[in-house]
Amino acid sequence: MGTADLHIHSIYSHDATTTVRAILKQAVDVELNVIAITDHDEVRGSLEAQQLAPEYGIEVIPGAEVSTSEGHLVALFIKTLPPAGMSLVDTLVNIGKQGGIAIVPHPFNNLPHSLSMESVLGALTNPRAKGVLKGIETHNMGTQNFDKVARKIAVYLPLAKIAASDAHVYWAVGAGRTEFPGKTAQELRIALDRNNTVPIPYEEEFSARAILSWVRRITMRRFGYASDARSISTPVSTQPITNSMIRKIRKKKDDT
Ligand SMILES: [Zn+2]
Ligand SMILES: [Zn+2]
Repeated sequence: MGTADLHIHSIYSHDATTTVRAILKQAVDVELNVIAITDHDEVRGSLEAQQLAPEYGIEVIPGAEVSTSEGHLVALFIKTLPPAGMSLVDTLVNIGKQGGIAIVPHPFNNLPHSLSMESVLGALTNPRAKGVLKGIETHNMGTQNFDKVARKIAVYLPLAKIAASDAHVYWAVGAGRTEFPGKTAQELRIALDRNNTVPIPYEEEFSARAILSWVRRITMRRFGYASDARSISTPVSTQPITNSMIRKIRKKKDDT
């Protein structure tokens, strides 16, 4: 089995602080096989990561988090950025025409930018958009308190179940990962097609200290103190997600 984190933000997103290299390094450190950098209406981070990926021995899927008029949509395997502000169906058609697929991020809650059930069901039954939507996040580290509804409804939807970090700081990369048969991006795509993925959530609480760490980093970025967020020292209390932490979480799961 391989593991992937398909929803990560880099410094090309206005609300993230992490360089592309920091993401790649962290992804290798936590033993991910495939990642997608999905910046808000921006593909530069993703394309930069694809170019650098061979240096790190990891596969990168080109992608972006597109702002449709109905909410956010993660687009994967795209060549060009779909324009923001289109309906969900028109955005899916655009993605499909360029050979891409899409995942519904942080769905079915009242948070701004989340797609509603009506929107998703409409897209799944629309003949123009059918077949482009392949996955749904049942676990998103950033919205973990709201994911219960998504998990309950996703059971009934013909979509692959995804856990993703939605990382906006480097140490969160991999805190939310999806397992799939194989190791490569193409094998992951087949697993998404076959609805054959396993979401592995980050089960620790998204602590107040973690939020404070992000606030501190984004404030420093806004005031221009550092362009490379990894150069800002990490507070002792918010350590990067390590393999031993992940193993500990898995062991805890096995024991219960
Ligand atoms: Zn989003
Ligand atoms: Zn996001």
